Amino acid sequence: MKPYAPQTHLETHEVTNVPPPLAARNLYTTDAALRDAARLHGGDWVEEPLAALGAAAGSDEVMQWGEDANRYPPELHLFDRFGRRLDEVTFHPAYHRLMALAMEHRIHSIGWAETSRSSSPEGGSASKQPGRHVAHAALLALFTQAEAGTMCPISMTYASVAALRHQPDIAAVWEPKIVGGVYDAPLRPIAEKRGLTIGMAMTEKQGGSDVRANSTRAYPLHAGGPDYRLVGHKFFCSAPMCDAFLTLAYTDKGLSCFLVPRIEPDGERNGFQILRLKDKLGNKSNASAEIEYHNAFAHMIGEEGRGIATIIEMVHHTRLDTMAGSLGIMRRALVEAVHHVSHRRAFQKTLIDQPVMRAVLADLAVDYEAAAMLTMRVARAFDGETEQDESFARLAVALGKFWTAKRTPHFVYECLECLGGGGYMEDSPMPRYYREAPVNAIWEGSGNVIALDILRTLQKDRNALEAYLAELEPARGSHGNFDKAFEAVAGAVRKGAAEAQARHIAENMALALQAALLLRHGAAGVASAFCELRLGEGRSINYGAGANSIDADNILARQSAGCR
Ligand SMILES: Cc1cc2nc3c(=O)[nH]c(=O)nc-3n(C[C@H](O)[C@H](O)[C@H](O)COP(=O)(O)OP(=O)(O)OC[C@H]3O[C@@H](n4cnc5c(N)ncnc54)[C@H](O)[C@@H]3O)c2cc1C
Repeated sequence: MKPYAPQTHLETHEVTNVPPPLAARNLYTTDAALRDAARLHGGDWVEEPLAALGAAAGSDEVMQWGEDANRYPPELHLFDRFGRRLDEVTFHPAYHRLMALAMEHRIHSIGWAETSRSSSPEGGSASKQPGRHVAHAALLALFTQAEAGTMCPISMTYASVAALRHQPDIAAVWEPKIVGGVYDAPLRPIAEKRGLTIGMAMTEKQGGSDVRANSTRAYPLHAGGPDYRLVGHKFFCSAPMCDAFLTLAYTDKGLSCFLVPRIEPDGERNGFQILRLKDKLGNKSNASAEIEYHNAFAHMIGEEGRGIATIIEMVHHTRLDTMAGSLGIMRRALVEAVHHVSHRRAFQKTLIDQPVMRAVLADLAVDYEAAAMLTMRVARAFDGETEQDESFARLAVALGKFWTAKRTPHFVYECLECLGGGGYMEDSPMPRYYREAPVNAIWEGSGNVIALDILRTLQKDRNALEAYLAELEPARGSHGNFDKAFEAVAGAVRKGAAEAQARHIAENMALALQAALLLRHGAAGVASAFCELRLGEGRSINYGAGANSIDADNILARQSAGCR
């Protein structure tokens, strides 16, 4: 809890020139960039759920839960006191409160929201709610500001629906309790549960990116039947207290996708054994385990031998969440930085009025605006209203994940430096955000793998390439730097590139897309600043080092409500 007004009159000196605590605030209504982008791409209906979560997640109480869940990490209990196997992880109560809050606000389910059924005599069919994935991504970004680790199981639970739908009989049983469920932590058979969470276990010791190197084997329970027993291991299995896991294992027909419940249909604990919990750089509230399958019961999901094609549906959706998670981390770090420098003086001026500090902050703010706009646009493509949307989503989520996740660690580091030495201290919130920042670049496809994926999509999917260029086209003629960037990127993507150039292509495509979106829809001054800072000859490597002058006053004015 925040302490009651700390004492400033000390025996030897007065404590002055330090910022007040960052007050509770609505994380959504005070964030002009996210709000504009979410409304633009999601529609006005997203305001209500986002403002509701923004108020809850920005409260002192929930922020404290975030602190506690990370300060008191999960503990593994392999056996009970009599030596019987448990394979259970216990968490601080704050973790459970955060999970319950996240599910109450439907972060895991709003992406699958349907509008009410039509009133035709046949009952009609429910139609999908436009903007539902925008709402999902924005909710996840907001919640991440309070706590990032819980967003791992929430994201996997959300994303699992896309893969489970490849097996309609299993989806019919599991999906209603995933999408319609509340947080119901204790391990029980699914029939007794009010809500379910789902994890994903693909990575093995000998290969993570290259899942074809998996060695786990699946043996049919009955010849030709849908159920199997798995034998093997997974080197990473986050949130091992989920009710079931989507996983990969080989049958005679190749790598196949399976759902492994933690309780077998006969009510026994499944042969899903935890070996140890990972000791991670960050993401401390979330347990990540090494596991083994000891004849673990599993349902096959989707077509035998097409496991990668099935599970990639889940990965496609968790990739969106790596963007949203990065966005949340960026936002919180930026808020802390702007708050600090708005209250701290050095060399006769408040820090935020020092010209170099303004250049740094404006540059950071422009990056945040670009990340918010891109994340919400990509999320809208997940609604899949048109065929073009689907093609665009495949390519753009890879671009967005690559660039946003790569930007975040540097972004957080610069925000941390704005706090001076205090930002480096463990009693500041910055180290937690800094440690959290790199993970979104690693899981769901690490940087090189994503960049190569982009190259492959460009080669194989003409529609994706055309959808990408169509998104850029309307911005032509708005800024000279963008026009040059467009010509260069359009030429490069049409020509194709060697593998060694994959990152070059990914970075330039992502920047051109962000610029186009800001030029078409961004706030005054932000788009031209982005074109100067990221596309022009004056572009810089470090924040605040761009050669051209930008409209820092207008750019920073958009931050003032949320950050002071
Ligand atoms: C905190 C955390 C939680 C995780 N939770 C889960 C989980 O719940 N379930 C799960 O399945 N996995 C999980 N993972 C694992 C994660 O998905 C993998 O670590 C990731 O996919 C990379 O696999 P790897 O570690 O085997 O690295 P490798 O595949 O060995 O890759 C190492 C490096 O080589 C690069 N590389 C790979 N191929 C190429 C290539 N062809 N050309 C150039 N470079 C290449 C990669 O980009 C990477 O930088 C988690 C990871 C972390 C850090």
